[in-house]
Amino acid sequence: MATQTASGARGRKAIALASRPGIDDERSDGTEPGDRVRPTVKPQRMSAVRGPVLTYTGDPFQQGLGSTMRYEADAIVAMADGRITHFGPARQVRTLLPRGTRVEEYGKNALISAGFIDCHVHFPQTPIIGAYGAQLLDWLNKYTFVAEQRFTDRAYARSVAQVFLRESLRNGVTTSAVHCTVHPQSVDALFTEASRLGQRIIAGKVLMDRNAPAALLDTARRGYDDSRALIEKWHGKGRLLYAITPRFAATSTPEQLAAAGRLWREYPDSFVQSHVAENKREVAWVKELFPRRKGYLDVYDHYGLVGPRAIYGHGIWLTESELRRCHDTQTAIAHCPTSNFFLGSGSLNLGRTTRRDRPVRVGLATDLGAGTSFSMLHTMGEAYKAAQSHGYALSAGHAFYLATRGAAQALHLDDKIGSIAPRMEADLVVLDLKSTPLIDYRMKYADGVEEALFIQMTLADDRAVLATYVAGRRVYERAIVQSR
Ligand SMILES: [Zn+2]
Repeated sequence: MATQTASGARGRKAIALASRPGIDDERSDGTEPGDRVRPTVKPQRMSAVRGPVLTYTGDPFQQGLGSTMRYEADAIVAMADGRITHFGPARQVRTLLPRGTRVEEYGKNALISAGFIDCHVHFPQTPIIGAYGAQLLDWLNKYTFVAEQRFTDRAYARSVAQVFLRESLRNGVTTSAVHCTVHPQSVDALFTEASRLGQRIIAGKVLMDRNAPAALLDTARRGYDDSRALIEKWHGKGRLLYAITPRFAATSTPEQLAAAGRLWREYPDSFVQSHVAENKREVAWVKELFPRRKGYLDVYDHYGLVGPRAIYGHGIWLTESELRRCHDTQTAIAHCPTSNFFLGSGSLNLGRTTRRDRPVRVGLATDLGAGTSFSMLHTMGEAYKAAQSHGYALSAGHAFYLATRGAAQALHLDDKIGSIAPRMEADLVVLDLKSTPLIDYRMKYADGVEEALFIQMTLADDRAVLATYVAGRRVYERAIVQSR
């Protein structure tokens, strides 16, 4: 097949979507006709992509951008058996590749990055994105708890999981930390579909034994038993990882939180995910429910639910001592700006959260369906606005870090995903830096890489994703047709 795509993208346009025979004929999944999502996993030989590459070798928030951001104007990334084998300037790497290695040329108007990582998202809320008129606690009752009751139905859970994963890949998101519903079959549905695509996914069954509709409640005992069974079934199988998932402190009894902490001690290499300090009313409510605890984070801390591989959504209203506790315990915050703006929750003070004397691990996240976009580019743009509201200008270099290596570091997976280097898992996104007429025009005035990246996070969205690779396989390719 033709290996040239983006290098010839000037003179082409990515909006007309002609159907291609024999590729993926199911169109009930939210993908556009002509877009390709390939679910089948087959044996793999070496392949490579060529184009400009952006990646990170360290944390720019701590060490500065100059020594951690690596940009290669013309690079090759070679992959085999799910991992990156070579990365470097094209002229050097080309000579090292076995004869006959297929090199996909993306051209100078593309950007190859590690696949985006979404640190906090709810796949069952895909059907309720853009639900009008409520803040967190009312939004949960009015929309979320209604939508999640449908996940008793396995076929429905599977259909939503398919849409969620395909839409993620269409946006270049290769790993997500996912809250499922209280039903174990919602986890089965997501992991089954993710394993077909070879994705590294973190997910867990929501634990919830109070303050929600009866149909969505488990008990401390059943939540523990179901989660334990799911860990045994899925955790560490292929690229799948399990997260113990209390929804948030207000929907779990002390007994359930204690059981969750016990389970984590029994499976210490699993993950914990939940929410903390998202909304002021929620913070006040948790204080009422747990009057003996020092604060919101202390509720989780008390039950043994903070530490490495614990990731909490939002953290907007955490106090200084709570941020310090996150730092000391390596507990991470998932920064969800589109969700925070949408629900009127507030905005994370990123400068304060990442302060150099006690930096908290932060990864970027969509928090769909309170979040409003699968696009991590859009999410970066909103993170910029959130930071601006606190007088802090988030650079594009830092924002791309938060969506890749920074997110991986937050999840304690930075030895596997989030950057481009030999032996890393070969999850990539390839962006078209001229994906709309306006961006094409604006890019003529871009002065350097950083400005080009900033234009992308301010103006671009899913239309910018040319291709997505999971474990070395191209699982999504944007349809491209002649237009000029
Ligand atoms: Zn959430």
